[in-house]
Amino acid sequence: SPPSNSVIIVGAGMSGIMAAKTLEEAGYKDFIILEASSRVGGRLHKGNIGGHTIELGANWVNSGGPKSSPSLQIAKKIKLKTFYSDYANLTSNIYKQDGGLHQKHVVESAVRIAKTRDAFCTNLSKMLSSETTRDDDTSILGSQRLLKEVPMTPLEMAIDYFFNDYEDAEPPRITSLKTTYPRNQLVDFGEDSYFVADPRGFESVVHSVAKQFLSHRHQVIRDPRLKLNKVVRNISYSKDKVTVKTEDGSVYQANYAIVSVSIGVLQSDFIEFTPNLPLWKKLAINNFNMAIYTKIFMKFPYKFWPTGPGTEFFIYAHERRGYFPIWQHLENEMPGSNILFVTVTDEESRRVERQSDEKTKAEIMNNVLRKLFGNKIPEPQSIFVPRWWSNRFFNGSYSNWPNGFTQQSYKELKEPIGPIYFTGEHTNSTYLGYIDGAYFAGINTANDLIKCFKQFSDGHHI
Ligand code: FAD
Repeated sequence: SPPSNSVIIVGAGMSGIMAAKTLEEAGYKDFIILEASSRVGGRLHKGNIGGHTIELGANWVNSGGPKSSPSLQIAKKIKLKTFYSDYANLTSNIYKQDGGLHQKHVVESAVRIAKTRDAFCTNLSKMLSSETTRDDDTSILGSQRLLKEVPMTPLEMAIDYFFNDYEDAEPPRITSLKTTYPRNQLVDFGEDSYFVADPRGFESVVHSVAKQFLSHRHQVIRDPRLKLNKVVRNISYSKDKVTVKTEDGSVYQANYAIVSVSIGVLQSDFIEFTPNLPLWKKLAINNFNMAIYTKIFMKFPYKFWPTGPGTEFFIYAHERRGYFPIWQHLENEMPGSNILFVTVTDEESRRVERQSDEKTKAEIMNNVLRKLFGNKIPEPQSIFVPRWWSNRFFNGSYSNWPNGFTQQSYKELKEPIGPIYFTGEHTNSTYLGYIDGAYFAGINTANDLIKCFKQFSDGHHI
């Protein structure tokens, strides 16, 4: 009997939805999507503070480059509201540890050095990449050492954080130079960042794609093949059969599976594979990094921070690197909302996730905001701390390529195991970490699978 081509897709984030859409359009409609949560969108997820829509996950699209970013294209198509993030004025907005602004000319010279470091990173990366037979790499910090320009002072560290951690969500000590510089997302899609602030949420870009094939007349997402609240816990496989078990006791069978869960979920062993994944595969998964990026939102009764042109962002330069460093107000996006948010990453994210929101609030008020704006400022009416790391469906925010992780291991990371294919932002080497990475990953993985279907139907067994 001819082999059938049924597929179980695990996860309904951008990559899972794109994989399904690619199969559908190629005529392979025999798939189901099992999504653990009650919604489509994954790491594009809106939240709410004081009646205002905020983005707990992805927030920015890139624009102005030679190529057009798919996430931007979709955002434009559905007329999602976006706002240009103007970082040009940051040199006037960097606060000292105990309050007061750093002098503009001091900041400007520190920024010039940071830009030199950046250019050096790009050049060194090109040199390392031109040597194709070797796996030579270094960390971003390693390249700063080579240049003899390692950030030392709180100001230098804050600027370095803005250039690197704010993008990679991990420190330069960890991040691979060769695979991070130049940043393809910015080179290809543009350095202009647009901040999504729309009541429908950024997740509506994934919904918009899903509606094209999982709904009747593009209205609501409803299709018997999409199954929500299905938490996959076991995937058993043989050469041409996959059996998937979910937490609620359901069992699904197909010829193939596409697993789109984050690298953090794969590392956690939350999904048991039977038989076990081979050691080389486990090593590739566990040697890669799931970074953590946390936007802490606070709503105040009134604003006490500077507003008007050139004030949207400010930086706090503390001696402890990454201590409540990058701040943004939402007065342009939501006038009168009185919302301020601060971004933390890595160990600071882990720390705030572990402690109570009350404690984080007190820390932010006493150790940062009162130092900058005085003791008379009001308490926030509410605080929202997203917990991507503690969430068993994510275990972090997005992947980051660590120094020492080889191209060979990266190939192994996405390599299928029998009938099980892997996708997700972490499997797209060009735009990993980004929505656009997830977008292309879903398409590519589905196409790999379709190639395999065709080989079988041609009789070329592999
Ligand atoms: P996911 O969206 O994680 O989809 C996987 C799906 O699998 C999820 O829906 C999950 O619920 C589900 N799942 C997990 N476990 C199971 C299970 N056991 N059974 C069934 N289903 C399961 N990108 C940008 O481009 N710009 C940004 O500004 C940006 N900022 C970000 C900020 C934060 C805080 C975060 C978290 C991410 C950010 N990203 C940003 C990254 C971007 O959101 C992701 O790269 C992208 O959304 C990942 O899509 P995905 O399909 O690979 O994974």
